[in-house]
Amino acid sequence: MEREKLLMTPGPTMVPTRVLQAMSKQIIHHRTKEFSEIFKNLSQNIKKVFHTENPVITLASSGTGAMESSIVNLFNPGDKILVASIGVFGDRYATIAERFGLKVDNLKITWGECVDPQLIKEKLEQNKDDQYRGVIVTHNETSTGVVNDVEEIGSILKQYEEVLFIVDAVSSMGGAKILTDEWGIDVVVTGSQKALMTPPGLAFASVSKKAMEAVEKSTLPKYYWDYKDAVNRLGKENPDTPYTPAVSLIIGANVAVNMLLEEGLENIYQRHNKLALATREAVKALGLELVTKEECASPLITSIKAPEGVDIEEVRKIMNVKYDIMIAGGQKHLKGKIFRIGHMGYVDKFDLMRTIAALEYSLLEKGYNMELGQGLAAAQKILV
Ligand code: PMP
Repeated sequence: MEREKLLMTPGPTMVPTRVLQAMSKQIIHHRTKEFSEIFKNLSQNIKKVFHTENPVITLASSGTGAMESSIVNLFNPGDKILVASIGVFGDRYATIAERFGLKVDNLKITWGECVDPQLIKEKLEQNKDDQYRGVIVTHNETSTGVVNDVEEIGSILKQYEEVLFIVDAVSSMGGAKILTDEWGIDVVVTGSQKALMTPPGLAFASVSKKAMEAVEKSTLPKYYWDYKDAVNRLGKENPDTPYTPAVSLIIGANVAVNMLLEEGLENIYQRHNKLALATREAVKALGLELVTKEECASPLITSIKAPEGVDIEEVRKIMNVKYDIMIAGGQKHLKGKIFRIGHMGYVDKFDLMRTIAALEYSLLEKGYNMELGQGLAAAQKILV
């Protein structure tokens, strides 16, 4: 039977029909009052999702573009920064910064673990005489399903006023609580295609006053990414963007962000926490092992070790081809060793139950020794 694929991946994620319908209308011109109203609404509401009073810029790019934008806007060639990398996306931030001639101290944490904020404090203390200009942390490391304590890191960084704090929240903004201003974050970047329930192609970056001061002084070359023009235009009576925006995506994101506010941010955070707990309990009930300790486990994506003797890539294939459900495999050296279930964005308990049921059938088909229904029952009890 032909069915719509259910994406239980860490992006792109499912898009609500209301968002799709809004995007399917005839294009409107971006230098009109009509578009400006929509863009103004999105720009104001996305600030609520970020929990910030500062401007949030909308970029026509994926999340990586926003990561690059933060580097070229805030720094100068040769600046020393600290990246606390806990996986693929922390390493990517370090690579981007290196490409632009920054001196990057990559505090590499074992994959599957979160960073101990005290390690960051130690690094800052050790470098007191030649302090880092910035610290970069991934909030939700999608490659391992680990969440960092950004609040605690932020409270440490408040004692180092000259240091800029940048957070990659590409896979968490809108699904987990990030108090941008309260936690002292200067730039938070995210993408449209994950917890924000919008198709891929848009990115957002919040910019604090301290960050804007750094932008004024930054000498790295930039044109398309320049925050100055973007922020100025956001402040206009009828806001617009410096260049042609991704009009349809902005229209879609506006509807999606309205939906988030309608559901209520606290309710959304709780929904994700519950889905994550149900996923963990389900896989444990099936005798599977989690990649990370529960205290570092992400509310948006769960990483699970592939069971001994079972080809997990084959399991994923069965889920996709036979049951129309896509989950993710491992990245880099974790390929074939782990699999990841995304439960971010437009996901409800029945999506998750369907996923667990399909996982059980697929594991059984590939010879995993288990009793059908145990994972599902564990999940169902939590999702009541
Ligand atoms: N950071 C994190 C934490 C991510 O999950 C991703 C996407 N998987 C990115 C950065 C990169 O975003 P994009 O693929 O949208 O460029």
